[in-house]
Amino acid sequence: MARIDLRDLTLPEMAALLEEAGQPAYRARQLCHWVYQRLVTDCAQMSDLPLALRQWLAERCYVSTLTLVCRQQSVDGTEKFLFALEDGRQIETVLIPAPPRRTLCVSTQVGCALGCRFCLTAQGGLVRHLRPAEIVNQVLFFCQPGQTPPRPFTNIVFMGMGEPLDNYRGTVQALRILTAPWGVGISPRRITVSTSGLVKRLEAFGKEGLKVNLAVSLNATTDEVRSQLMPVNKAYPLARLLAACRAYPLAPRQRITFEYVLLAGVNDSLADAQRLVKLLQGLRCKVNLLPFNEIPGAPYRRPDDETVQRFQAYLLAHGLSAFVRQSRGRDISAACGQLRYDAQAQPALTGTPPLAMLTPPRRSQGQEKPGARAESRRVESASAD
Ligand code: SAH
Ligand code: SF4
Repeated sequence: MARIDLRDLTLPEMAALLEEAGQPAYRARQLCHWVYQRLVTDCAQMSDLPLALRQWLAERCYVSTLTLVCRQQSVDGTEKFLFALEDGRQIETVLIPAPPRRTLCVSTQVGCALGCRFCLTAQGGLVRHLRPAEIVNQVLFFCQPGQTPPRPFTNIVFMGMGEPLDNYRGTVQALRILTAPWGVGISPRRITVSTSGLVKRLEAFGKEGLKVNLAVSLNATTDEVRSQLMPVNKAYPLARLLAACRAYPLAPRQRITFEYVLLAGVNDSLADAQRLVKLLQGLRCKVNLLPFNEIPGAPYRRPDDETVQRFQAYLLAHGLSAFVRQSRGRDISAACGQLRYDAQAQPALTGTPPLAMLTPPRRSQGQEKPGARAESRRVESASAD
């Protein structure tokens, strides 16, 4: 029988588990405290639990951790962490210092099924969803009980590898664990989930009551261009996506962030800026402009700075909040859209070696053709919505 990873569980699920062991419900809080706050991974060390219960847990359960394979630092201070999962697959997590913030960018899938043409993560298709524990562990890796400051990050964005709402259950469960007082206890206001626009999932997500921030990757102002760039637009065109955004429940001062990757000559004209203003009319929102980060194999270019500024100026002049997001960590392929699952990557190191000893990963150059298996998974997964 497969052992249960305690870091996959919420408080009520831990209570249900402990009931099987004939234990009172309050023990679930103690267990959560060890697993999510004291960060103890050995059941034997959970000293306020009865010895017999510790043994019972050790036989059936475990507490997972990620194995650090490699850590790279960019000239701009951005750090990228390559982690190995239990099955040897690898994911990337990025820590971006932008004083006074330090943003942790986490992955929700190994690869991605959505196939956006400008994104490197798309190129290998979807390999698999992450379990809630694998998402939560990307955060817990950076937390040490008793350290000052308590956490080396101030914000978390679900903008790493994968489409969070395609891994709906994994994402929602991880968010509950990260935000609950019995869990990691991070304010939902400091967490942003980014989606490419799986509308039905977005509608369901709004009803979960999680109170996290929402970002939507818009990236185009006509269905024709958006469908070329993002196949998801064929299932959920702009009108449907924006209607779902208008209906999305927001807290009093909360706004939706619309992300817009600027691609030279594709979606960066003044006519695009005009259409964008119209599309977003009446929405409580802000726009993040992301000048394209070049990736191997994509037929796009980054617009020049003047074009980017002109686009932003038009939005500002027409009442939209618009920011240009300078890409961070480009020299270590850690910027938006540059994360990918590298099947040829070196095997995981076991244990957690001293960080200074770690070497950069071998990254294959050039475009990888998506394999047939990845293609079929892509269709399956996207149509499951
Ligand atoms: N799947 C989610 C979250 C991960 S992608 C989503 O699509 O929203 C995070 C952001 O990176 C998205 O806004 C996406 O549009 C952007 N992005 C992807 N590839 C990029 C690239 N090559 N250059 C700049 N931004 C990119
Ligand atoms: Fe997936 Fe987001 Fe990349 Fe599109 S932009 S392929 S949804 S990770």
